[in-house]
This record gives sequence, structure tokens and C-alpha cells, in this order.
Amino acid sequence: MWTSGMALLLFLGAGAHVEDKRTFREAFPDEVRGAANTSSKCCTPGTSSGEAGALDTFSLRTLVDTSDFPPRWRCGIWSSAHGWTHILADSLIWGAYTSIPVILVYYIRKRRDVPFPRIFWLFALFILACGTGHLVEAGIFWWPAYRVSALVKVITATVSWLTVIALMPVIPKALALPGLKKINESLEEEIKRRATAEENLRDRSTRLASIVNTAADAIITIDQNGVIESANGTAERMFGWKAEEMIGRNVGMLMPPADRDRHNEYLRAYLKTGHAKVIGIGREVTAMRRDGTTFEADLAVSEMLVGNRRSFTGIVRDISERKQAEELFRRTVEAAPNGMLLVGLDGTISMVNTQIEKLFGYDRGDLVGQPVELLVPARCRESHIADRNLFFNAPSARPTGLGRDFSGRRRDGSEFPIEIGLNPVRIRGTQYVLASVIDITQRMETLKELAAQAKELRHTNAALARKNAELDEFSSVASHDLQEPLRKLISFSELLKTDLGGDLPERAATDIKFITEAASRMRSLVEDLLTLSRAGRSVMKREHVSLEECADRAIAALAARIEETHAVLEREPLPAVIGDATLLTQLYQNLMGNALKFHAADRQPVIRLTVEQKDGVWELGVKDNGIGIKPEYREQIFAPFRRLHGRGEFDGSGIGLAICRKAVERHGGHIWVESEPDQGSHFKFTLNADKEALCLSDSGIAPSSCL
Ligand code: ADP
Repeated sequence: MWTSGMALLLFLGAGAHVEDKRTFREAFPDEVRGAANTSSKCCTPGTSSGEAGALDTFSLRTLVDTSDFPPRWRCGIWSSAHGWTHILADSLIWGAYTSIPVILVYYIRKRRDVPFPRIFWLFALFILACGTGHLVEAGIFWWPAYRVSALVKVITATVSWLTVIALMPVIPKALALPGLKKINESLEEEIKRRATAEENLRDRSTRLASIVNTAADAIITIDQNGVIESANGTAERMFGWKAEEMIGRNVGMLMPPADRDRHNEYLRAYLKTGHAKVIGIGREVTAMRRDGTTFEADLAVSEMLVGNRRSFTGIVRDISERKQAEELFRRTVEAAPNGMLLVGLDGTISMVNTQIEKLFGYDRGDLVGQPVELLVPARCRESHIADRNLFFNAPSARPTGLGRDFSGRRRDGSEFPIEIGLNPVRIRGTQYVLASVIDITQRMETLKELAAQAKELRHTNAALARKNAELDEFSSVASHDLQEPLRKLISFSELLKTDLGGDLPERAATDIKFITEAASRMRSLVEDLLTLSRAGRSVMKREHVSLEECADRAIAALAARIEETHAVLEREPLPAVIGDATLLTQLYQNLMGNALKFHAADRQPVIRLTVEQKDGVWELGVKDNGIGIKPEYREQIFAPFRRLHGRGEFDGSGIGLAICRKAVERHGGHIWVESEPDQGSHFKFTLNADKEALCLSDSGIAPSSCL
């Protein structure tokens, strides 16, 4: 402000100078003016102040009055080049200084976000003022408007200082503004961020589109008039229409005609009242394919607001398979021979079959929706509820009621024993238990009878075992006790024969001979009986036994007879077992002895020791080519003293095979013969392999099973 004040003072000073009423001519003597004129280089005023009239006031006329100054051409010695350089330069500067504000103003008007717009305006004004100054400077060569020039300069000075003053508070703010580089960087970052966001958005929408398209359910959107707006790939496959064929048509096209009006009515009612009869609820509907066939579907509808446009998304799931499965399940349950109950987690009966109706005497209508405890005797209800909860905490298929006093209660209050099989089943996401109920009244009675029979059998067995033991005891004692009198009978018969010597009549000698032979025969029988008794009563060893060695010992004992009969022996490699070596040697010796004894007269005896392994059990045998045995005697010959031939034919006491059977059975095996008359015999017996041979019976009776 002080500058503009100063300028104004100077300007007024110029006015005061004018006010001294001296003209240019008066102020400068003629000589001076003449000199200037003659040389054409002096300052010659165009008009005098006197001609222009007195300038008594500072006014527009004063401002444009140029009478007291010569044009610049006349002031000083100007060469054309010099003068025109000034004029041209000033004119060009004016041109530029006028264009710049125009551009600036244009820029400010266009870019409303330019910071500090007022500074721009001041700049524009300041530059315009500068330009005007230069224009005046150029004009002064012809029009010496020095006062105008002064005024323009004052204005320029004022505007320039105003600009300076306005700039000062703005500078810190301008400095705080981000530089162009920083702006560029942040712009680039922003561009990148947006590009990433756009890419993510594209990704998301692609993913969303593919999820929607590959969803297991049909997804269809409709507008508020029921017109289809979109349909996914599953909808195309489910309904047989292409999406573009569905879009733009009413959704009723996907329903049987009978349902269309109802659907439109729902939609209208919803739009009017907002009451969602359909919206959001998954419900079963009938849907229609392009070919007119229908299927059961589950429909869930949700509402969307896009802007202020309302549309609905329907998710349709084809449940025809599920429906078929449910029907199959229902029929299976119905056809089951047992009573079947479907019970919910809270114990409520959901389904029963005809068998349940028959078993409990209820109609199914009386049972469905009732607690399952209705079918349980009152005394068991509490424990049943606890059992039921226990089952639902860890549901798994299991039987129940077996071995427990589990009873059902009929409608008439009577009770009956039942067996229950429980199976957890999940139907439409809900956990149930499918219980199969069997009336076991009959079975319980049979079991009672069987238990009574088993008890009786145990008693009989015990009595038999006792009698066997007594019999063994008796045979042992009897054999021992009989041996002594027999020995005496024989020795006294011999003594009598000796004592009488030659006095013994022939007939008496023959009688004594019969007595001696009979006594000897009886002694031999008693000895055999004792051997049999020992075979059943002796303490049996349990040790590793090589059957090879047992067979060797038996062969050694029979060597004389083998030689005598010229028998041929064949043997397969025999295994080792666990058992009693003496008993097993005796077994081989008896069987091979019989094979030698009962050989066919017309052929050389061939005896083969056989071995086979079957299911972990050794099947061993002694095979001959002898006289053979008739089928009806194959079992009898193992009984004590059973013989098929008289002593005249083959000697023996009939105890050998009985001993064999005892030996085999004490080892946990059994013995039998395969034979045909005159075809030879194959005596076979089983022995447990290895440690299983330990599982033997000490009682002499073969165990029925060895666990
Ligand atoms: P024993 O040999 O003392 O007669 P066993 O108990 O050994 O008594 O045999 C009983 C009967 O079985 C014999 O009398 C015989 O008739 C028949 N038998 C046994 N082994 C054979 C065999 N290898 N071939 C034919 N018959 C046999």
C-alpha cells in the first residue's frame, strides 16, 4: 500500500509540475528547442499546454493531455532501428503479457481444483498490468501519454505488491503441498491399487460366476414380476432349457401349469404385504422340465435389492432321488419281518411298520408322535430314557436286550421279552435311530429247555465219567487180583502133573493140559486188560516226539515178523509232534503188527506209513494190502475185545485197536479206517501239529474242541 501511495504522490507531483502553468515551450528556451528542431533530434512538443487549455484539475483530460511532452521519437536522437526495436519489443511483450492472463484465466476456470486460485487471478492481473505498461511505452513514441504511463505503472506496482503480500501466507502452504514427483508417485500407486482391486474384482466375479455355474443346485433369479433374469448351468441341465431361452420369460415356465397361478399369487401377496409365504423357506415343490416331465424339488428363495430394484434368487435342488430313497426306505421298513421303529433324538416315534402294530397291539396312528417309552413297561421307563440318551451320545449299530431282561409292553399292559437292534440313521440331516424289535418269547422258552437239558446232560456226563473211572479202577484192580490166582492155578497144575508123574492117567493129563491152557489164556487176557487200563490211566508226557523215531522203534520190535513175512516197508517223512513217545510207539507198533498179521496169503505184504497236513493237523496213517475189512465192522473193531476172526485163523485178544484209539484220543486226535475186503486197509489218525498237541485231555476222553 505504501508503494501505491508513493506512486500516487509522484503522480500528483507530476500534476503539481503541470500546475506551475509553464508550457514545454516556456520551460525550454527556443535555442534549446531550435537546436533540437534543427537537428530533428530535440524534444518537440506536439501541442502546448496553452493550446490544450489550462489543466487546473487532475482529471481524465489531464491524464490524456500530452501537450507538455514530445513523442519519444522527438526526444533525443533515435535511429529508426533503435526506436523500432523498443517499439517492437514492447509490443511483443504486451502481446505475450496479455495472452498469459487469458491462458491463466482459462486454466483457472477449467480446473476448479487448482490450489490458491486467488493468487492466480492476481498473477493474471499483474501480468496484464505489466503488458499494458509495455504497450504504453511503445505508444509513447508517437503519443507522449506519460501520465497514462505513470498511472499504468502505479496500477502495476499496486497489483504486484498485492501479489507479493498475498503470496507470503500462501508460500508455506504451497511448500507443504506434495511435489509433482510425489503426486505422480502416489498417483501411480493409486493406479496400481485400483488395477489390483479391479483384477481382484474380476477374479472374484469370475470365481463367483464359476461357483454359481457349477453349483449342485439350480440358481435362478427373477424380477418382481416373476420374469427370469438369470439362470446358471445347473438350471439349464436340470430343466433342459438354455439360459437365454429362460431369460425374459416368466418363471412359471418351470412349473406345472397347475402351480403357476399359485406362484404368481404368492409373489403378488409378498410384494404387497411383505409377508413371506415363499421367501427364504426351503419347501418341496414340483418342478417341470422342458419336455413336460416333472420332478420333486426343494426350493429356497431369497430377496435381493440391487439399487432400488428388487429381485429374487431361487435355489432349486432336485430331490427326486432322495424321494425315491425315502420311499424305498419306507417300503423296506414296512416289508421287514421284524418290528421296525424310527425314533427321533427326543424319543418321539416317527415311523412304525405293520409288525410293530401286531407285536404291541397299537395302530400306527396311535404310536407316531408318541414317546417310545409307551412301548416299555412302566418300571423300565426311566432306565430306558437313560439308555436312549446314552445311545444318542455315541450312536452306533448295536444289538440290545440280549442276555438282559428287556421287555416290551403291549397295549393291553401285558409284557413280552424282546431283542432290539439299534441302527443310527440320518434322514434329511436329522439323526434318528432305527430300532428292529424281535419277540423272543419262543426263543427264551427254547433256551430254558436247552439249559435244563444241558444241566441234565452235565449230570449224566459226570455220572458216566465217574462210572468210567470206577470201571478203569475195577479193571485195574481185577486184573491185578486175578493174576495171582491164575498164576497159582497154572503153577499148581504143573506141580500136580509133576507129583503124579507116570501115575497120571492119560485122560487126567489131557484135563490138566486144558486147565493150564485156559489159565494161560485167561492170564494173557488179564494182562491185555491191564495194558488197556494203563493206556487210559498212565500219566501222559507232553514232549517233543519224533514220529520217525517212534516208527523206527516199532519196526525194530516187529523185525522178526517182518522178516518172516518178507514184508516191504515204505514210509513218507514223518513229522515231530508234542505227545507221549511210549503211547505213540505203541500206536505204530499195534497198527503195523495188524498189517503184518492180516496180510493176504497170496501176495507179499506192502506196508506204507503215510502223512498229510490238513488245516494245521497231521493226518497220519498205516496202509496195507492185506485182507481188508467189511464196511459194517469199520467202527466195531476199535471196541475192546472185538475180533473178526477166530483164534484158529489169527491169534490175538482184540485189545490192540482199543489201545490205539485211547492213545490217539489222549493226544486230542481221532482214529478211523478206510478199507474194503481184499483191497487192503488204511488206518488213519490225526495229531495236532506242534504246540497244539499240548491241548490234550488227561481224562482219556477227547475234548470236543481245543481253544
Ligand atoms: P487183535 O489183533 O488182537 O485181533 P485188534 O484190536 O488189533 O485185535 O483188532 C481187532 C480186529 O480188527 C482184528 O481181530 C481184525 O479182525 C481186525 N483188523 C485189525 N487190523 C486189521 C488189518 N490191518 N486188516 C484187516 N483186519 C484188521
